[in-house]
Amino acid sequence: MGPMLLSGGLMSLLTIENLYKYFPVRGGFLMRPTGHIQAVHNVSLGVAPGETLGLVGESGCGKTTLARTIIRLLKPDSGKTLFEGHDIAPLSPRELRPFRAKMQMIFQDPYASLNPRMSVGDIIAEPIIIHKKIPRRYRRQRVCELLELVGLSPEDYSRYPHEFSGGQRQRVGIARAISLEPKLIIADEPVSALDVSIAAQIINLLQNLQKEFKTAFLFISHDLKMVKHMSHRIAVMYLGEIVEMGPSDNFLTPLHPYSLALTAAIPIPDPQTKKRRLILSGEPPSPQNPPPGCRFHPRCPYAEEICRQEHPSLKECQPGHWAACHFIDKVKKQLP
Ligand code: SF4
Repeated sequence: MGPMLLSGGLMSLLTIENLYKYFPVRGGFLMRPTGHIQAVHNVSLGVAPGETLGLVGESGCGKTTLARTIIRLLKPDSGKTLFEGHDIAPLSPRELRPFRAKMQMIFQDPYASLNPRMSVGDIIAEPIIIHKKIPRRYRRQRVCELLELVGLSPEDYSRYPHEFSGGQRQRVGIARAISLEPKLIIADEPVSALDVSIAAQIINLLQNLQKEFKTAFLFISHDLKMVKHMSHRIAVMYLGEIVEMGPSDNFLTPLHPYSLALTAAIPIPDPQTKKRRLILSGEPPSPQNPPPGCRFHPRCPYAEEICRQEHPSLKECQPGHWAACHFIDKVKKQLP
């Protein structure tokens, strides 16, 4: 799969090629390695400049590990992470520094990700200080601008995280993430800890910031409806692998049975519209012992013998739309 295709035919800002991240599992009296959790298994994807790629899947499917491996909070076991054409996967922390300024992360829990002993102004200024982007005399002014940009007040500069609500704390996290005007923001479940109305405000804020700064987003969520609303393209992850990737508009009727099951949770606005529902049964298998062949086969109603033996690779089924399933045509025929 070439980099052009990975990013939907556009030139890629970020290209992930065959990325692996396993965690050792230890057991017994001597805590010897007894196996591996296959958190990220042979993942390839791309994000174009200014694009939002939504990454969706059940909790525990490896989305967060993938995000942390891309941004190099975790070191990959193998594979490439090309940012603007440079492979950052093997770089040392010192060599990574210029790339860190261009890639930022927004975390799920805005409280845990903000240092409770630092004022909000100092939290937002920290990346600016580390990367020496703005002379000291202009820093306060820049932080006040950022506070206003995310809907807070310059008077909040000296307040501490515990004085804010969850939504306000996420705004602080966003102000810190955009302080260096990054080219890519990885947002890992940024609103799942917030009330619905507050979550909608934060989503609007992220969309407005993207329009203003042309920032690319990797937007991670377990909620396909939200990902569809936010994203130009969507990648679906199951048990450490990407099983489908394509334009967001195509995901009204996805091609992979697992993605179909995810859409079953989305309400249909028009009751006259018939839509095939595929209800998932059972829990995902353990990533320590993934099933052979297609990892989805124990839960898939379309599974046949080949699914238990041969691993399906991602194939381009429609222009720019990829899916990993032996029986895409059979699934398509049964769609309305
Ligand atoms: Fe289901 Fe087989 Fe397709 Fe896997 S390859 S999703 S088991 S039909």
